[in-house]
Formats: sequence, C-alpha cells, structure tokens
Amino acid sequence: MQSTVSPNTVSPNTVFPAKQIHTMDRSRPTASAIAVADGRIVALGETDDLVAAYGGTVDSTLSDKVLLPGFVEAHCHAIEGGFWNYLYVGYFDRTGPDGKLWSGCTTFDQVLDRLREANAKIDDPNEPLVAWGLDPIYFDGERLVASHLDTVSETRQIYIMHASLHLATVNSRLMEEEGIGPDTQVEGLPKDGAGQPIGELQEFAAMGLAHTCLRILMSGVTNDQAIRNFGQIARNAGITTLTDLGSSSIGNESVVERWQRGVDDSYPARVSVFYNPAGGGNFATPDDAPAVLAELAAKSTDKLRFGHVKLILDGSIQGFTARIRWPHYHGTGENGLWLLAPEQVESYLRAFHNAGVTVHAHCNGDEAVDLFLDCCDMVFGESRGGDHRHTIQHCQLTTPGQYRRMRALGLCANLFSNHIFYWGDQHASTTVGPDRAARMNAAATALGAGVPLSMHCDAPVTPLGSLHVAWCAVNRLTASGEVLGPNERISVDEALAAVTIGGAYQLKMDDEVGSLAPGKRADFAVLDDDPYTVDPTGLRDIGVWGTVLGGDLQPSS
Ligand SMILES: [Zn+2]
Repeated sequence: MQSTVSPNTVSPNTVFPAKQIHTMDRSRPTASAIAVADGRIVALGETDDLVAAYGGTVDSTLSDKVLLPGFVEAHCHAIEGGFWNYLYVGYFDRTGPDGKLWSGCTTFDQVLDRLREANAKIDDPNEPLVAWGLDPIYFDGERLVASHLDTVSETRQIYIMHASLHLATVNSRLMEEEGIGPDTQVEGLPKDGAGQPIGELQEFAAMGLAHTCLRILMSGVTNDQAIRNFGQIARNAGITTLTDLGSSSIGNESVVERWQRGVDDSYPARVSVFYNPAGGGNFATPDDAPAVLAELAAKSTDKLRFGHVKLILDGSIQGFTARIRWPHYHGTGENGLWLLAPEQVESYLRAFHNAGVTVHAHCNGDEAVDLFLDCCDMVFGESRGGDHRHTIQHCQLTTPGQYRRMRALGLCANLFSNHIFYWGDQHASTTVGPDRAARMNAAATALGAGVPLSMHCDAPVTPLGSLHVAWCAVNRLTASGEVLGPNERISVDEALAAVTIGGAYQLKMDDEVGSLAPGKRADFAVLDDDPYTVDPTGLRDIGVWGTVLGGDLQPSS
C-alpha cells in the first residue's frame, strides 16, 4: 500500500527527457521531462529546470519517445500467460509471449487440420489434447461438435476452450471417459435428437464435467511461468497495472503463495488479484467471504494487491449465454443463463458492500445489468453509499436509462470495447441485430451520463493491448471495416483517460497510478509515436518501446 517517502531515503533524482509527455492530469497536461526518485515522480517540466531545481542525472534513453501514464488494464486474466502452453486455434492472428506469431484458423477445416497436426506429434495415444481460442461464431452453417473432433482422434480426450472462456467443445472419447451421456443432467449440455450430448459444454457447471482436461488446463495456465508470461505480455503492450479478475482460486493458500512468489520485486507490472467467492473450488458463503477477503487484503504489497471482489452474473453474448432483455437474442428470441441466482447476487453484494469492499460485477447483457442495479437499490437502501466504486464489468448492452441509474447509484462502467472489432459484425448480423449492436459498449453515452469509465480487453478473450482497446472506442471499426454505432465514438483523449486514470479509479489506485503527477508512482507507457498526433485510425499501430515501472526501465522483448 502507499508508503511515505522520508527525505533521508530519497535516492538521487533521475531526469528523463522525452519527445512528449502526456500526463492525463488536467493541471499539467504535457511536459518534456520528468524527474524520478525512489520509484516516484518528483516533478514534471523541462530538463534544465528540473536539473536546476532538483539536481540528479539526466537519462536520455527515452528522449525520442512519447510517455503516457502506464496503461491500466482493469479487466483481464492471468491465464493469458499460460494458455500459450496449449494449442491456439483462434480465428485471428495472435502473438505469444515469446514473440511467435500464430496465424488464425479461419475455417473449420483449418481448426481440424491444426488439431491433426498437433495430434500427430503426441506419441502417447491416450494423452489428452487441449486447445484454446476457438470461436465458432465466425463459421457460417454447421456447428463444430464432438463428431468433428472424433475425426482427429478417437483414443485421446480432446478439449477446446472457446475464445469467450464460457464454452468448450469436446470429443466423444472425453465424454465417454468422463461419464457424460444421455442421463447427465446439467444445465448447458445440449443434446441431439437421440438425447446424446453433442459435445458442447456451456458455462462453468457443464465445462467442469471434463475433469481430466480441465485439471491439465488449469495446472498449465495458473503456474509460476504463466504469471511471469502474463507480466511480460503486459509490459510489451505498455501496461503497468494489471488485474486478474476473479479467475484465481485465491481462497486457497497455495494459490496466494504462487502469486506472492510470482509477483516479486522484479515482476514487470503491478497486479490487482480479485477474489471470486462463488468461483469453482473457491466457494465461500456471503457470511464467510468478507473475512476471507480481509485476510487476503492484509497480504497486499506495492506490486501485488488483494481486496476487491468479482461476481459473475451471466455468460457471454457471442456464446449466446448472456442475459439479454426482451426481445432477447436476435431472430431466435432465446435468452442466456444466470451464473448466480438473483438472491445470491443480493446476498454477496450486501455482505461485501457493508464490509466496505469494492464489487465488480460481470454483466454482459442488459438484463444482467438490471439485476445488479436492483440489488444495489435494495442493498444501498439499508446502508451508506460511500466511496464504493462498484463497477459493472463488460456492460456491453447497457441502455441510456441504465447508465442514468448507474450514475445515481455511483457505479462505474468498464466496457469491453474490443468487442466492436472482434465480434461487431456478428453482433449486428447474428446475436443482437444492428440496432442493439450500435449501442454496444456505448462509451459516449456512459460519459454523457457522468459514469466513471474504463475499457478493457478481457485477455485471454482478446489480446492484451490498451492502444487497441482505445482504438476500438475511438473508431468503432469492425473486422470487416464497418463503423458500428458512429455516435458512440469518443475522442482519443477520452479513450486514453479511460485506459489510464479511469482504470486506476476503479481499482482504487488512482492516487498512486493512472496519471503523471508529483508523488505518484513512476509508471509510464513508453511509445514510439504520439497518440494525440497520429491519425486516430492508426492508434493501435503505434509501437510500444516498453514501460517504466517504479522508475525502472523495462524494454519490451
Ligand atoms: Zn473476464
């Protein structure tokens, strides 16, 4: 937590001249040099003035770079760092932590070919094959099911985690060995006309049936190396503050220890690890959960933070499991799944709110937003509002009226802006239709309603990269080049504020990071070009040199 720097421990100043510095601080929006001591910002100004006033040495490493506050990614998951231990079968090209570029699989056949290739390289015919990144929504017509995967292997289990992380597709061998059959009664297990499960596991209860593969996947995506990779990918994207939003079972001591080992003094980012009391293997009742969290919060360090909570109300829009208001899903009129019962949401919120804990609620669909707002109404009615900074995560279909209620309740919005590019075309054509797609991730409406705003990538759902997130909100271009909902576009300055000070505010870290001002931590994103002067359509293409974290230079790999 924040410590006071006493004068006799201040190390000598380093003054970093830069081509341009954007502070995201209204009282001094720009500067050409920044003085740093003991990991914190001493002052901003011009090099000669700073040296004259504060002494110290000049480090010209960044003199042709543009500095911003280090980006704050307020909704992502550390498993991004570990998924790269498994086969990538996503639609878009993607770069791993080692810099290797994996081409996207743009047809079913390419997915199956890549699986066959991997299958041929595994000697043991019984060793499971785990892959990730699949997104069937890009493929017209037939659905990828167990029978397709059976053409890859009938002897080993195959488990493909979808890009949304809310679904998986598995082969027949897996279902046979895990006892998933016509008699299995779990929500989210679609069956064919003969009553046989088709091989799609929707949401966590059904996905959890694949015990062996899930165990393999979870051990690989949550180990020490995964945590290390996660920080490296972030640094390569200019991100200095990261989150692991409720995906680690930090109710378990060994998981906390892994985080403590991983996020040591040399770790390339700060990480706020959220607690999901209703998460698998991590369950705590609303009565117990605040005490578990308080114990965790006491273990926070400068770089590793505990103390906030994540609740997941519904599923994913592109996985057709989000809870969406009438007329529900476009064309079909179907609706998604509740991942927490309404009374559970209310009781968790009441317990945490009354304990002064910040709750971030995953609500993809607008019906989920309604539920959370109703719970806030009930809970706030009986206790103080206070500086809670409860945040609606994703908030993708939120209506103007809901934003006005959020403003009245003091809630923040963290939008999934990357959806515009990655799934915008499918949302307009398939999931919610063009009308509602135009208001997805409505940053302009949120700002207009006075709702504190951040925006995120939800890695590994989409790649870590705050410039890409900002680019989406500024341009609202879909993968096919259409502008989706042009009236919801926001300015470059608004978008950059959302991915810096906006994210920091929602993590209750805005007094430390998110803008550049005296006394704050010396965390910078170091860019090759100036986001305020490039063509806004080129925002995502700006090169990232790396970061400065607590005054230490961290070039990207
Ligand atoms: Zn997420």
